[in-house]
Amino acid sequence: MRVLVVEDEAKLAGLLRHRLRREGMGVDVASNGEEALVRATATDYDLILLDLMLPGIDGFGVCRRLREQSIWSPTLMLTALGDVDDRVRGLDSGADDYLVKPFSFDELLARVRALLRRGAPPRPAVLTVGDLRLDPASHQAWRGGTRLSLTSREFALLEMFMRRPGQVLNRFELLEHVWDGTYENRSNVIEVYVGYLRDKLGREAIETVRGAGYRLHIDDDPR
Ligand code: CA
Repeated sequence: MRVLVVEDEAKLAGLLRHRLRREGMGVDVASNGEEALVRATATDYDLILLDLMLPGIDGFGVCRRLREQSIWSPTLMLTALGDVDDRVRGLDSGADDYLVKPFSFDELLARVRALLRRGAPPRPAVLTVGDLRLDPASHQAWRGGTRLSLTSREFALLEMFMRRPGQVLNRFELLEHVWDGTYENRSNVIEVYVGYLRDKLGREAIETVRGAGYRLHIDDDPR
């Protein structure tokens, strides 16, 4: 079993490595979010222990980006933040379980064993929001029974919206994920492409949230 520990506090990271190795696991340590992403994309970890508060990209961001890249290593989020919003956000970002700091090592190990037994859960290959369906593997999308004819940028933009249904996405996130930051923030490329998508999905499908960004707006049950 190979485990990635993502923890910026060196002392705790060392302790986790020591305890997990004693359980017979192979352990790598990353001390920030960027390093975690590099390691987790290069190695197929059986488990990721992910601290929430990290310098740079935080635990939510790490988890979300891994899931976006279809990396499903079971992830246990470690958080000092115990309130319900953060736990919900952690699970929504794709974490499989969470543990609030300070935790007992016995509980940590029990949860680690449970996640390892469970393994990586099968994830749906096709994204569905209301009557919209999108298959990232075949690059096809449908609204109801109708196949949508999308350019690769339109497809990438729709996929981004469908991975975060109901969530407002700001210009920065869209530029970063769909255009790899190749455009200046002041360009109107997003407005243009949102317009193209509206032409194909229906005007109401993408809502403008003034001053914040855009949100996919598809009724869960159109009938
Ligand atoms: Ca931390």
